[in-house]
Amino acid sequence: PSPDPSDVDVVVIGAGQAGLSAAYHLARKGFVAPWARAGEAPTYVVLDGEAGPGGAWRHRWRSLRMATVNGIHDLPGMALPEPPASAPANEALPAYFERYERELGLPVVRPVRVRAVRRDGGSAPLHDHEAGVAHEGGAAHEGGVGAGRLVVETDAGTWSARAVVNATGTWTKPFWPVYPGQETFRGRQLHTADYGRAADFAGAHVVVVGGGISAVQLLDEISQVAAGTTWVTRREPVFRDGAFDAEAGRDAVARVEERVRAGLPPRSVVAVTGLLWTPALRAAAARGVLVRHPMFTRIEPDGVRMADGSFRRADVILWATGFRAQLDHLAPLHLRNHGGGITMDGTRVVAEPRLHLVGYGPSSSTIGANRAGRDAVREIVAALRVHAAA
Ligand code: FAD
Repeated sequence: PSPDPSDVDVVVIGAGQAGLSAAYHLARKGFVAPWARAGEAPTYVVLDGEAGPGGAWRHRWRSLRMATVNGIHDLPGMALPEPPASAPANEALPAYFERYERELGLPVVRPVRVRAVRRDGGSAPLHDHEAGVAHEGGAAHEGGVGAGRLVVETDAGTWSARAVVNATGTWTKPFWPVYPGQETFRGRQLHTADYGRAADFAGAHVVVVGGGISAVQLLDEISQVAAGTTWVTRREPVFRDGAFDAEAGRDAVARVEERVRAGLPPRSVVAVTGLLWTPALRAAAARGVLVRHPMFTRIEPDGVRMADGSFRRADVILWATGFRAQLDHLAPLHLRNHGGGITMDGTRVVAEPRLHLVGYGPSSSTIGANRAGRDAVREIVAALRVHAAA
């Protein structure tokens, strides 16, 4: 294998659940690694910034066990072996992803960090050696998929592709809100993405900010060792009883889909589903830990000023405030509309039809990522064929 940069038909960026799903479907459609070029077979490569398999699962905190994740959908075509419930997700899932990549022979090249994706600027005709036709390069809006190339600049050289599947997740883009006085705080501030283990907070006063699943899970475990915890959220959290059925799931996904189709920034699927009561959370509630306060109004050197004017001491502020889609490397494509969102049609970016976003917005769950990878590949195959035939 020679992972040297080259021209391929499709570059997939990111080897988490979404990127591997796209890779699986490309392989099924007959796409091969550029170094294994077989006749006229179209080529693809997966560029991943990690040192090894597993996507963001490599970095989840150790106390996130297979028993405490929300439910992980298998990668397409290979069942997740039954790991013990006590297995840390940051070991069990990378091991599964490693086996998946190896057994399916997926052309993942790592560590390769994509710095920028640009439109091939030249207006000169580009020769497409795969399709054997020459066609005009330039703006995607004019030519559609297949016209010209997207240039993928990385820390390991420059690739070029007729289509790009972006599957870069959110983990590398933690969201930190800004509050007055933040810079004066004498204690420690960290984000969920930096969280290691509860023992680090033994004896401390900890303010946990955020209303998502991570926030309540971490609040629960920190409260068992801390001197005290304060939980603040912007909105009143909504807890739900019982399982989240398929219909409710579809409804939640549809609502996020509607947002991105309208060009609005996505909200997480969890933001529209609410929090599910678990035995651990019921126990935390019984211990009096799940007492939610409205967001504090400012941060002071030794604590936070609450909305009612009272003061809470804090040694630590844990920002469990979520993540945003990691799309920094797509900035040269100027995809954002005036509302700050990216207008989508399914997985396809309306302003750049050669680009698909998978694991984005409505597909930011393991099952959504699987489907998005499949849908993106179906469209890319159709678009490349249409162009080759034109
Ligand atoms: P990731 O797994 O983040 O993969 C993205 C990959 O792209 C990474 O390897 C990253 O290094 C790489 N990358 C990023 N930028 C670049 C770049 N510029 N160049 C090259 N590579 C790059 N979902 C569920 O369905 N069930 C759960 O139980 C569940 N639990 C979760 C728990 C936590 C704490 C969090 C934060 C999320 C959870 N999710 C869960 C949502 C989960 O993130 C998604 O389901 C899914 O794992 C995301 O897959 P992905 O492929 O989109 O992203």
